[in-house]
Amino acid sequence: MADQEQVIFHPNFFKIPEDGKPYLTEAKCTKCGQLWFPKLPICPSCLNETFEDSPMDRVGTLYSYTVMYIPQPGLKAPLAIGYVDFANGLRVGAQIDVPPENIRIGMSLQVDSAVIREDKTGKQTISYVFRPAE
Ligand SMILES: [Zn+2]
Repeated sequence: MADQEQVIFHPNFFKIPEDGKPYLTEAKCTKCGQLWFPKLPICPSCLNETFEDSPMDRVGTLYSYTVMYIPQPGLKAPLAIGYVDFANGLRVGAQIDVPPENIRIGMSLQVDSAVIREDKTGKQTISYVFRPAE
């Protein structure tokens, strides 16, 4: 549906290049060096307000997850949500686009983009999800 309205969720730290794979960005505090995701207005460690953004690895390891079996407005069930640990030490939560029976703690998952919600008017929200690593 070409003329369907779509909105990208969190474009300040979720990037979808026109000719590449979607990725997340880490925010490195320019004063104390602590990494954050998502980017925050101030560094909770040192109260600095400036950060250096860098692309994160796309692949991480599933730390934990849960499955929601009751549909919510705009969301279909079953819906898996989990935390993925990345090599930079950050832990990121998002929907897991894998049938619940195939999800395993410790599996390799990669960042991808998907429609995560659709409202009554058909407006779609696109955000990052985790899918099995290629
Ligand atoms: Zn800091």
